[in-house]
Amino acid sequence: MTAHSLGVEVSCDGPDEQTDCPGSAAIRIRFASLTAREVRADGRKDGWARQRRAGRLADLCPGCAAPST
Ligand SMILES: [Zn+2]
Repeated sequence: MTAHSLGVEVSCDGPDEQTDCPGSAAIRIRFASLTAREVRADGRKDGWARQRRAGRLADLCPGCAAPST
């Protein structure tokens, strides 16, 4: 355990399977968040969502999670 652990980064998987996130967004990690679970909890406060997609979970930033219609 180091004093400056980077923890984990959770980045946006994009609006759909074939499309990368236009903003290449990643969740801004809070000071106390080290695990993926904690980082995703931070993301939810900022409007991030998780979506089941072809048997796996995709992380979506607020821009990509918003309905495109
Ligand atoms: Zn995105």
